[in-house]
Amino acid sequence: MTELVVNEIFHSIQGESSHTGRPCVFVRLTYCNLRCAWCDTAYAFEEGRRMSVAGILSAVRSFPCGLVEVTGGEPLMQDGVNDLFEALCDGGYEVLVETSGSLDIGGIDRRVKRIVDFKCPGSGMVKKNLWSNVGALTQQDEVKFVILDKGDFDWAVERVREHGIDKRCTVLMSVVFGQLEPIELARWMLEEGINARFQLQAHKYIWEPAARGV
Ligand code: SF4
Repeated sequence: MTELVVNEIFHSIQGESSHTGRPCVFVRLTYCNLRCAWCDTAYAFEEGRRMSVAGILSAVRSFPCGLVEVTGGEPLMQDGVNDLFEALCDGGYEVLVETSGSLDIGGIDRRVKRIVDFKCPGSGMVKKNLWSNVGALTQQDEVKFVILDKGDFDWAVERVREHGIDKRCTVLMSVVFGQLEPIELARWMLEEGINARFQLQAHKYIWEPAARGV
């Protein structure tokens, strides 16, 4: 029986991606191979408890919701995550995964919509990006850049154009909460004419920005 280390499972409003606003069950898995300077989920680096895939599915089923996001931490760090994806998809759920883009996404169940969070220089983790992941992206996937400053924005625009990411899937751009004013990013996107979607982390406006389990 496959087991995973789970940080938390909760029901909330999806705050990011083109699925923003939809009720969603979040399965947050423990561990991360990165240490982004502005990380807002450092509590997921170590905290967690072992749960079987069946136990996770049972917890997910306790909520009246057909959309599930597997997130972290870095969810792809645990080998058993593919068994979880398969069980959720077989169970009829629409499944999203949010991953940093530093690990291979090619082995993920094809039914799962992949949100790949490539890291900008301001995160301190830019060297960890695995650009071969771009070749695996399909129209149902999304790529996100979290922008700290103008340097990050210019870098992200270059990467989008260099790799043709906007031709493969939706590109999302978001600010580092509390460190870049959203109006700045909005202005840069309009000036640049970048083919990307502006987003805010909606959950940080609905609930307290530092609240967990929302
Ligand atoms: S990849 Fe995500 S969880 Fe890991 S350090 Fe970066 S922001 Fe935090």
